[in-house]
Amino acid sequence: MKKIAILPGDGIGQEIVAEAVKVLECLRDDYGLQVELEEGLVGGTAYDATGTPLPEATLKLAKAADAVLLGAVGGYKWESLDISVRPEKGLLGLRSELGLFANLRPAILYPQLADASTLKPEIVSGLDIMIVRELTGGIYFGQPRGVRTLDNGERQGYNTLVYSESEIRRIGRVAFDIAAKRDGRVCSVDKANVLECTELWREVMTEEGKAHPDIELSHMYVDNAAMQLVRAPKQFDVMVTTNMFGDILSDCAAMLTGSIGMLPSASLDENGKGMYEPIHGSAPDIAGQNVANPLATILSVAMMLRYTLDEPDMAGRIEQAVNAVLDQGLRTADIWSEGMQKVSTSEMGDAVVAALRRQ
Ligand code: NAD
Repeated sequence: MKKIAILPGDGIGQEIVAEAVKVLECLRDDYGLQVELEEGLVGGTAYDATGTPLPEATLKLAKAADAVLLGAVGGYKWESLDISVRPEKGLLGLRSELGLFANLRPAILYPQLADASTLKPEIVSGLDIMIVRELTGGIYFGQPRGVRTLDNGERQGYNTLVYSESEIRRIGRVAFDIAAKRDGRVCSVDKANVLECTELWREVMTEEGKAHPDIELSHMYVDNAAMQLVRAPKQFDVMVTTNMFGDILSDCAAMLTGSIGMLPSASLDENGKGMYEPIHGSAPDIAGQNVANPLATILSVAMMLRYTLDEPDMAGRIEQAVNAVLDQGLRTADIWSEGMQKVSTSEMGDAVVAALRRQ
C-alpha cells in the first residue's frame, strides 16, 4: 500500500486537487491501485489555521508519505505578511526538508492544442521535451550573498554560483535515467565558455555520459539553448541544467505549449520519492469560480505513478484519458477555442474519470 500526501494549498489549488483526487480514487476503486490518501494543510490556508505555512503535522505527513501531490500556494490575502510566514515559505520548506534536488518539467503539446501556442503549429505540434533542473544548489543558494556598501559609499549586490562534483553528478544521473525511458538523448546546458563552475559541470556530465553509453549526450551553451528552444524545439529530448538556467528555460519551454493549465512537474529526492504539482500558481484571479483547468494536476498524478510509484500502466491510463477528453472537444476556458465545448473544472475532472472508466 502506497501512501500519498494530498496538499491542496491555496486558491485554485483546492479545486484542481479535488479533481486529481477523483482520478486517483477511480484508479483505486476500478483498477486496484493500492493507495491511501491523506490530506494536509500548506501555504496561506495553513497559516490561517495554524500560524505557519508549513505546520509540523504537514511536514510529518509529507515525510512519511511515498509521494506528495501539491496544488499551489499563495494569494493576495497573504502578500503583506512577513516573508518568513508567506505561503511560498511552505513550498520552499517542503522542497528543502524533503531534499528534492531534481525538478522535472515536461513541455508537452497535445496535437489537439497546437493552436494554443504563439509559435507556428508545425514548429510545436507533438512537442515532448523533458527539462531536468537542479533545484537545491547553484546561484540561488550559494554563499556568500547579499548587498554590501563599498568604501566609496556605493552599494554592491553579489551572489555566488557554486556546484560541487557530487551535485552535478546526481542531477546528471537523473537525466540519463529519464532519457533511458524516453528517446535516449540528453542535452546538457551550461555556459562553460564563461563560467568556470559550469566548465566543471560540462566535465562531470561528459564523464557521466561515458558511464551511460546507450544515451546520446550533447552540450549546448545556454544562450544558444534559449534560441534553439524557440527556433526548433522538437530537436530536444531531455535537457539537463543548473538551477537558474533551468528556471528560465523551463518557463520558456512551458510557454511553447501556450497552455499553463496543462503542464505537470515533479521534484525528486535521492531515492526517487517526489513531490508532484502543476507548474502554475494558485491563480487568485479565478479562484473559487470552478473555471480553472485541472489537467496539469491530473497529469502530475500520472508523473507520480510513472516516476515514484512505478505504475507506468496506470500513468498511461491517465494520459490516454486526457487525450480522450481533448479528442471529445472538451476545453476549460484557458484552452478553449471556437467550436469546442467549454467545461468547468469539475466537469473536466468528471470527464477524465468517465474516460478512465471506458478503457
Ligand atoms: P499563476 O500561475 O497563478 O497565474 C498566471 C495566470 O495563469 C493567471 O491569469 C491565472 O488565472 C492563469 N492560470 C494559472 N493556472 C491556471 C489553470 N490551471 N487554469 C486556468 N488558468 C490558469 O501565477 P501568478 O498569477 O503569477 O501567481 C499567483 C499566485 O500563485 C502568487 O501568490 C504566486 O506567488 C503563487 N505561485 C505559486 C506557485 C506554486 O505554488 N508552485 C507557482 C507560481 C506562483
